[in-house]
Amino acid sequence: MTAQTDTPPARKPRGRLFFANPGPTNIPDSVLLACAHNSVDFNDDDFFALYADCVAGLKRVLKTRQEVFLYTASGHGAWEASLVNLFSPGDRLLMLETGYFSEGWAQMARDLGLAVQTVAADWRRGVEMAAVRAALAADRAHAIKGVCAVHNETSTGLMLPVEEVRAALDETGHPALLLADTISSLASFDFRMDEWRVDVAVGGSQKGLMLPTGFSFTAVSEKAMAAHREARLPRHYFNWTNMLGRRHRSFVGTVPIALFYGLKESLRLIEEEGLDQVFARHARLARAVRACVQRWSGNDGPRLFCTNPARCSDSVTTVLMPPGHDAEAVRRTALQRFNVSTGGGLGRLGGQVFRIGHLGDLNEPMVIGTLGAVEMALRLNGVPHAPGGVEAALGSLTDSARG
Ligand SMILES: *Cc1c(COP(=O)(O)O)cnc(C)c1O
Repeated sequence: MTAQTDTPPARKPRGRLFFANPGPTNIPDSVLLACAHNSVDFNDDDFFALYADCVAGLKRVLKTRQEVFLYTASGHGAWEASLVNLFSPGDRLLMLETGYFSEGWAQMARDLGLAVQTVAADWRRGVEMAAVRAALAADRAHAIKGVCAVHNETSTGLMLPVEEVRAALDETGHPALLLADTISSLASFDFRMDEWRVDVAVGGSQKGLMLPTGFSFTAVSEKAMAAHREARLPRHYFNWTNMLGRRHRSFVGTVPIALFYGLKESLRLIEEEGLDQVFARHARLARAVRACVQRWSGNDGPRLFCTNPARCSDSVTTVLMPPGHDAEAVRRTALQRFNVSTGGGLGRLGGQVFRIGHLGDLNEPMVIGTLGAVEMALRLNGVPHAPGGVEAALGSLTDSARG
């Protein structure tokens, strides 16, 4: 039996849109203004200097000194670049199952002619490292050429400790390349490309970097560059060898100029705050959101999708609805009555969950406003829950502020 759902009025709500999607994310005003730049010749020395600064800044955020290749494409383009540059037809990949995005990356690999072996996982608990080690240890012939790990699974709200995947490769003496999707973790919580010896890190512009959608990138280790030289999958737009011959060492074609004016400003904001403080802010906003959802879960209310506290993500919280209640009705009420946008359930989670993004340009009042609107939407849709979720978030944030 489904409860009576709310019918919001047809007129658009007033006031600022509170945007709590886990990507794209809020764009700071100064970044928006910086992007408003007329075209320049991307080979011009002035632009090239700004571009080179941006790439250097991106490397600091990735914590790498290695090569970074950029593409005019959303994150999917960088996924494709990571596969076509490294592998040959029929090569085997080990995909660590996390959720909708690991499934998407795996399907892309199959479509490109690769064989995908999966380490299955409970989407709510995350992959067991023992299962990763077992899969690697069983592969005595080293048929597995790459291990793919989604650092933050944006559909489920679980993170995957990439450094533990590195340890599993080391312990089993397995030579496979390590690929990490950092699209919704980079500049939100810690990622260390070189220290964790990640061979390819995949990232995009519109999540933690607080930019419009439009470019993505891969950082590439020397070991991965060596694999690239042997790899035989067809490639053209994403071909790293072609890029190395260009002045920008990236972009087969026109550079998305406006985004680099924006990137310079977003890197300035991140480094002015300090990466560690950026991470601390994400951690404290995430704790408050989880405190709120945990309170709601009383009376058989909505609960945290993540059941493994060590893996709950600092950039997105996925909220599981009680059976018989539609997450889309709650999202519709929040958006159409209160101008608060949340993320919907992806793939098989559609209708069962909604997602509160807490990454990028976000602070306490924005989180409180979002949680307040969602709590009203729960009431208006007759969704059972324990009251006091927002109060629990206020308590958590106050404790964090006291330190
Ligand atoms: C958003 C996202 C992608 C896809 O990126 P697009 O920019 O939408 O193509 C891939 N992986 C993860 C973890 C993401 O969050």
